[in-house]
Amino acid sequence: MTFSPASRMIDDALLIDADVLTQALPYIDYQNHHLTIDGVPADELCQTYGTPLYVYSKRALLDKYAEYCHGFANINHRICYAVKTNSNLAVLKTLAQAGAGFDIVSKGELARVLQVTDGKKVVYSGVGKTKEDIAFALEADIDCFNVEAISELDLINQVAQELGKTARISLRINPDVDAKTHPYISTGMKDNKFGISHEQAVASYLHASSLPNLHIKGIDCHIGSQLLDTQGFSDALDKIIELIDALKAHGITLEHIDLGGGLGVRYIDENPASIAEYAQTLLPRLQALGLTLYLEPGRSLVANSGVLLTRVDVLKPTEFKNFAVVDASMSELIRPALYEAVMAIIPANNEHQDNPKVWDIVGSVCESSDVLGKNRLLDIKVGDTLAITGAGAYGFTMASNYNSRPRPAEVMVDDGKHRLIRQRETLDDLWKGEFA
Ligand SMILES: *Cc1c(COP(=O)(O)O)cnc(C)c1O
Repeated sequence: MTFSPASRMIDDALLIDADVLTQALPYIDYQNHHLTIDGVPADELCQTYGTPLYVYSKRALLDKYAEYCHGFANINHRICYAVKTNSNLAVLKTLAQAGAGFDIVSKGELARVLQVTDGKKVVYSGVGKTKEDIAFALEADIDCFNVEAISELDLINQVAQELGKTARISLRINPDVDAKTHPYISTGMKDNKFGISHEQAVASYLHASSLPNLHIKGIDCHIGSQLLDTQGFSDALDKIIELIDALKAHGITLEHIDLGGGLGVRYIDENPASIAEYAQTLLPRLQALGLTLYLEPGRSLVANSGVLLTRVDVLKPTEFKNFAVVDASMSELIRPALYEAVMAIIPANNEHQDNPKVWDIVGSVCESSDVLGKNRLLDIKVGDTLAITGAGAYGFTMASNYNSRPRPAEVMVDDGKHRLIRQRETLDDLWKGEFA
């Protein structure tokens, strides 16, 4: 699939063609120049709930989930949504009802999942599981621990023994492939903190098989995030298959193979492999293996199901730069500041875009890195609403109260209707649990 470009550089400024961009985002659309999310005008949402505001389309979420199910329909599979991407209970419930499992990285995430379903389809990743975390997960009878260190095997075995249980485990292998993504979101090279090295894998499995309260269930990897082509996944699969064969020779057979998450999305002009292409690349080898496939997608399920709506509060032209200060900031959306992520910022009303100027769209947090978008060509005035697209993933979950900013509300749009799925924090929430 190819996209027509949604952006152009004019001198050093980025002009985003909002019409072209929204064509690539099926649930975001301009109707009579007004931005709508699954049919609901952004203006109406802002009037009802205020700004900054996260908005998610339930249908977008379910359609992406269905794309995964379709792509891998020919093999047994389980799509374990990576909870850290967007952990709102309504998002989790939507996916649980559709049949998804969950990939969690903390006790807190498991507790969230348990608010909407049971633990039976949960896989537990993460490098630093404690005794308490493990006990909590065993009590919830989760499907599988994705083990990231040899010492973790012993710890899980010990806790399982104390509780009189058997823990199902899989080892997260670091396949040492280059995911060719931003170093902060690359996880599968040998100098990463994640996983067990390819070289130590067989010995680790043999050790696991010697521990009485462990049941070896699978093998797993996750090589990074926002991968645009399938090469890294394909390389990782080859490495994992090699190991599966080596394990077989040692008498260890597995039930599932977990290839993690990581498929990229289009934020502006990226041209990611589609879920169908991703599936087609991997399917022949997976069919030959005959194991159940687990996947742990996050971003590719929810990023483009969501937008962050924000209001322009102050326009501040200076000698060197024009700043547009909006009511969202790095506290609500940290991706641009943390990863230098470039996200599209488009007007909620695109009727008057005839006199664009170059703006840095910034928050009012006291950090120079508090930029949401640099050098954007936009025609804006105070009071306008802007939408940051692609904000459904790693948006609210990474929000903080830095600068004592109450975290924003979240809304879910479902077939022309909308409802609050998290209320905006109040000032009282800011010091909840504190003692003066
Ligand atoms: C973050 C994470 C994912 C999800 O990654 P995406 O790039 O959002 O698909 C999956 N598995 C593990 C172990 C993760 O840490």
